[in-house]
Amino acid sequence: MELRVAHLYPEVMNLYGDRGNAIALRARCQRRGIACTILPVNIGDPLDPGEVDIVLVGGGQDREQRRIAPDLLRRGPALRDAVDAGLPVLAVCGGYQLFGHRYVDHDGSVIPGIGVFDAETRHPGPVADRCIGDIVVETPFGEVVGFENHGGRTYLAPGQEPLGTVRLGRGNNAEDRTEGARRKNAIGTYLHGSVLPKNPALADALILAALRRRYGPSVELPPLDDAPERRAHEAALRTALARARRPV
Ligand code: GLN
Repeated sequence: MELRVAHLYPEVMNLYGDRGNAIALRARCQRRGIACTILPVNIGDPLDPGEVDIVLVGGGQDREQRRIAPDLLRRGPALRDAVDAGLPVLAVCGGYQLFGHRYVDHDGSVIPGIGVFDAETRHPGPVADRCIGDIVVETPFGEVVGFENHGGRTYLAPGQEPLGTVRLGRGNNAEDRTEGARRKNAIGTYLHGSVLPKNPALADALILAALRRRYGPSVELPPLDDAPERRAHEAALRTALARARRPV
């Protein structure tokens, strides 16, 4: 078996080690004898989402988001169709925001998104606090831990499923305790870190969805010895909880 992972804008949209998500997917595949190719897709590069098994996009500052938005918009219809057909996606922070309908950035300019998620992001302006720090989220894939740093606040439309519920941190908008978004096998999240290395269940959910979509529903993933990943997860969780208890 083999998987093809398209990594959108790896040079431009890569904050807080988001590139690690591609590395984690490839490592978890290779440890199971599954070939995994990471295809970097930069501005103007050809991509047929129907030809790949997973799409990744990382975060970026408002300036970077503005740079990639026109190219992403051109890919919008094909990406939406592929997500409707079950394509697994992991879109992180700035990438997540542009997989929604739009991002109104810190100076009020509108950066249009591709509307995979029924969500809108608004930056409350340069004086508002950013949502920065450790974050712990309860999700259908178990507890997920990471780091967030975003000015924009994302609001999900009624009926748009979140990725999970914030246990610690700010999440989508520091108001409604939702974090991220889900549509079929597409996942949006504010979690940097990168998120997949220390949350192996989330990584495996993307891999399994991709394998079943390509090779059939009976595919199963052999378990891996995730001791290092679990240690990293526990260490991040301990740090997050300790920092949350520390008086500011
Ligand atoms: N520029 C966006 C914001 O500030 C996303 C930031 C990010 O990707 N970390 O909200």
